[in-house]
Amino acid sequence: MFSKILIANRGEIALRILRACKELGISTVAVHSTADANAMHVRLADESVCIGPPAARDSYLNIPQLLAACEITGADAVHPGYGFLSENAKFAEILEAHNIVFIGPTSEHIRIMGDKIQAKQTAKDLGIPVVPGSDGAVTPQDDAHAIAREIGYPVLVKAAAGGGGRGMKVAKTEADLDNALSTARSEAKAAFGDDALYMEKYLGQPRHIEIQVLGDGKGNAVHLGERDCSLQRRHQKVLEEAPSPCLNKEQREKIGEIVASAMRKLKYRGVGTIEFLYENGEFYFIEMNTRLQVEHPVTEMITGIDLVNEQIRIAAGGTLDMTQEDITFEGHAIECRINAEDPRTFAPSPGTITYYHPPGGLGVRVDSGVYQGYKIPPYYDSLIGKLIVHGRNRVECMMRLRRCLDEFVVDEIKTTIPLFRDLVDNQDIANGQYDIHWLEKYLEAK
Ligand code: ADP
Repeated sequence: MFSKILIANRGEIALRILRACKELGISTVAVHSTADANAMHVRLADESVCIGPPAARDSYLNIPQLLAACEITGADAVHPGYGFLSENAKFAEILEAHNIVFIGPTSEHIRIMGDKIQAKQTAKDLGIPVVPGSDGAVTPQDDAHAIAREIGYPVLVKAAAGGGGRGMKVAKTEADLDNALSTARSEAKAAFGDDALYMEKYLGQPRHIEIQVLGDGKGNAVHLGERDCSLQRRHQKVLEEAPSPCLNKEQREKIGEIVASAMRKLKYRGVGTIEFLYENGEFYFIEMNTRLQVEHPVTEMITGIDLVNEQIRIAAGGTLDMTQEDITFEGHAIECRINAEDPRTFAPSPGTITYYHPPGGLGVRVDSGVYQGYKIPPYYDSLIGKLIVHGRNRVECMMRLRRCLDEFVVDEIKTTIPLFRDLVDNQDIANGQYDIHWLEKYLEAK
């Protein structure tokens, strides 16, 4: 086992990783920008190293500084969390070259899945169903109109290097196609420095359903069921739940086994998520994330498995110590992403938290790095915490969630808590009847 792990992240996820390390008896190193000197994960870590100024490119994305921090503290492994360098194959390689373990998959798997065109081809080869679309990249030399006609309108133009919903444009009809291609191409070039594009069938009313996997890199892999992340705004997840209100046991086992067997063939190591759109009873792969996800706690709540603990054990060379039969799903869990944002306009609302009272009680989990007196810096994303609630069934979970949202106080900043209070009272949400466009339509109508 490792003796010291450096946590190359900030906020709630840094604290989440720190907690897993503590339980395993592993020493922790927090790294932070000058803006995060007072962060909770820094306060609770055994050691901390300042790695630069506020801008992420100078601190949390600064590989030489992170290496120096490993060197100074003698850390033998790095946990990248999500975002920042978590899906940077080069970072994984550089650590490896310095005999420091990257807690994640091989750099080769990160690279393949980081290129959505390659990821889609790999998924297809492994027997995973994919969204119908162009066979690989659509270059300026290709006859894009012929390809789109073949797929059938509406089509979605997507960036191979895409992420965070950027570089994605819908062409409803042939008349929109040239414009969609050129805006997606320039957006992708600007955001990712890579303007490779591909096209896929635009699905009208899908749900976003993703499968959590866990593998040990030695050919053993299991799935931990699905998460339904259909409640989205601007292609960003807002609320996640498990199990999905629209899948039954047979459907879950079928798609789960397809994915787990693909991961066995790939000899995938660590945690990963295979994302699908689900429409009319069919699953369509869109991408794979080769890291821990923001919404991982809903899976932990219904399986009782600590995913960060598993990541660390496997990175240290451990073998998967569970079979698919060992994994059972208990009850229902919902996660709300609490952002420091205006609940109507979604404008960021940084500032000082003058009073903080998180909810508690049976089946309640709050993953957050904030505290009373904490000043939210304006430099990073606005997620300040996650409220995760578990119940024996979906109805109990929703009742508990409503109670928790009433109890939650974060003064004097604006948060998305009021939005969730409205959502739990909505009939469609209560019925579990929503697709990926539901929230945007709801917000428009409000
Ligand atoms: P990113 O990596 O930028 O998040 P994804 O491929 O994961 O991009 O897609 C993000 C979201 O965009 C999905 O959850 C879904 O809401 C929407 N989306 C992606 N592909 C399609 C598609 N073919 N049809 C309809 N919506 C899509």
